[in-house]
Amino acid sequence: MAVLLTHKILRPACLWLPLLLGACAMHPATTSMVPQPKPAAATPPVPQPAPSTAAEAEFRSFVHDFRQTALAQGIAPSLYDLAMGGLSPNAKILSLNEAQPEFVKPVWDYLATATSPLRVRNGQNALAGQEQALSAIEARYGVSRYILTAIWGMETNYGSNIGSFNIFQALATLAYDGPRTGYARPQLLDALKMAQQGGFAPSQMPSSWAGAFGQTQFTPSTWLAHAVDFDGDGRKDLWRSVPDALASSANLLSEEGWAQGEPWGIEVRLPDGFSYEDADIDIFKPVAEWRARGVRTVLGEPLPQTPQTGALFLPAGSRGPAFLVYNNFKVLLRYNNASAYALAVGILADRIAGKGEVVGDWPRDEQPLTRDERLRFQRDLNQLGFNAGKEDGVLGRQVRAALRAYQKEKALPADGFATKALLERMDGELASPK
Ligand code: CA
Repeated sequence: MAVLLTHKILRPACLWLPLLLGACAMHPATTSMVPQPKPAAATPPVPQPAPSTAAEAEFRSFVHDFRQTALAQGIAPSLYDLAMGGLSPNAKILSLNEAQPEFVKPVWDYLATATSPLRVRNGQNALAGQEQALSAIEARYGVSRYILTAIWGMETNYGSNIGSFNIFQALATLAYDGPRTGYARPQLLDALKMAQQGGFAPSQMPSSWAGAFGQTQFTPSTWLAHAVDFDGDGRKDLWRSVPDALASSANLLSEEGWAQGEPWGIEVRLPDGFSYEDADIDIFKPVAEWRARGVRTVLGEPLPQTPQTGALFLPAGSRGPAFLVYNNFKVLLRYNNASAYALAVGILADRIAGKGEVVGDWPRDEQPLTRDERLRFQRDLNQLGFNAGKEDGVLGRQVRAALRAYQKEKALPADGFATKALLERMDGELASPK
């Protein structure tokens, strides 16, 4: 789902990116649980019969009005009519567009799927099949072949799942009404530009339901900004040319600051009594400082000598594995602004390269919070006087900070990791205030 979050316009999309592909990203704000779409059987509301006549009329009116916008931007009338004529809203997309993630998947389950032995093996085969192209791409853009292969695997399982919606129907369905018009309208315009500039037939541009497309799931805006023709046939074809797709991803990462030859991060071990306050994906410090504070590799060796800065990322809190992530991890977040996604790419890349698995144990006994519990978690923090911000069920940066302050006050490990035990504790304090 690399709905490449490179552009500001895409930022608001973060919240729903998790829904694009089941195993893909999660909310960007580094909650360690991965929102999942509700399984169909357990899905209550989201009423989704065929669109009503009124909705149809509203949609047709949008398509009619948007024609002026598109033509004003240089889209040929014949192309617009070819791409947009005769479309109707897609009922499945309307349903996905309104869905709220009820269930969350623990990060360890997400990683188990994302970096499964089968996916590692398939990645090694896929890499071998593209060895020549990947060598040339690595030489030109300075991005590791393992990282590129891992992105390919995360996005479309090495090209086996590139989406089957019509990109214009998908984006027009999201653009005419609903919570994602701000994302979908510029993307729709960019999809038209892409068809025109790239010479693609509108019927030959399949996408995910959210309009991400091709081997590495670009959005139209990222295609316009970063796509390259690497196989030299004169077309930037991310659907049908694997070299074009992998090189476009490499170009994007390179332009976002990828540091050649540097790792994304390493698993580390924290010393006993470590203060977790600074262990946050947003807090970068010189690696030398982490070394001085007793952080070592997970095998107990001193941290590598490097002038880089790094942040400690504890995706499952103080009871789970710890990673020291470098600048390249931040670059991966530019591709998809979800820390679990970037971690999965890094681990999958390492595994494809033949490195070992994560060493630390995951706290598998932790039950993920339901949406109601996530809302209550935020409400409890707010009511106890810790500013957790808007109560929207998304446990992001502000919630982590508020939780850390609460944990500090209670002399608990200040890891900012939301658990049922903490929720029950806060519930109790609110029920019987001292
Ligand atoms: Ca090409």
